[in-house]
Amino acid sequence: MIPVPEPLYAALFRSLSERESAETAADLASDPSVAESVRRHYRRIDIVAEGALRTSTALACQEGCSYCCHRWVMASPAEVFTVGEAILATRGAERRGFIERVHHNARRAREASAQGDLHRAPRCALLDDDDRCGAYEQRPSQCRRHHSTDLDACLSAYLDAFQAGQPFPSSRPYETVGAAAEAGLMQGLRQRGLETRRYELQSALSEYLEDAFGCVARFVAGKPSFRHAMAGPSPASCPEAA
Ligand code: SF4
Repeated sequence: MIPVPEPLYAALFRSLSERESAETAADLASDPSVAESVRRHYRRIDIVAEGALRTSTALACQEGCSYCCHRWVMASPAEVFTVGEAILATRGAERRGFIERVHHNARRAREASAQGDLHRAPRCALLDDDDRCGAYEQRPSQCRRHHSTDLDACLSAYLDAFQAGQPFPSSRPYETVGAAAEAGLMQGLRQRGLETRRYELQSALSEYLEDAFGCVARFVAGKPSFRHAMAGPSPASCPEAA
């Protein structure tokens, strides 16, 4: 494979993040549903990401492989609402299962946080019995960006939680698209004055499932969307980068 010069990645990052920022801000202005704007963003990015994979080292990621779904995931409120809507769109036993597991994991998150031991995360509440993501089309940016070109590295990180924070062997084109997509989404949300702080996914989802209206009302009012979920650093100290 012919190596791509570094400035091309920087140019790709810039043009894609600017496009996503503009498209997301326009979608948010024309559609009152924040989750629908996020879903549109994901659909656009999935097409670009497919193209990036054609110029990349093959990924080790396969359907039904879930080693990376045993980590804490951080997501912005708009992304949490999008996953929450996907859960609420399910019915019967499937829905009850998701809700039970989300609340269970939220309790685990609170305990882990209180004990200062966030190395070990529970199996994501969104995983189904076949180890497939139950909200795959709506999974947050952190999940969409995460990938690996080496299954052994995934297994090692799964078996040893202390390795989970280590970088994985990755695809430069795929990572660039993912970073640009997330940066564009966050910039678009910020342009509309909406919160982009990341929250721990399970505890934020738990709060959303208990009080979706309150979470969305605070988000729209420009206040912190979640009162009890674990929050990450403020966006100002956590810039998105290629
Ligand atoms: S949301 Fe889906 S992709 Fe992300 S950790 Fe959970 S199961 Fe895995």
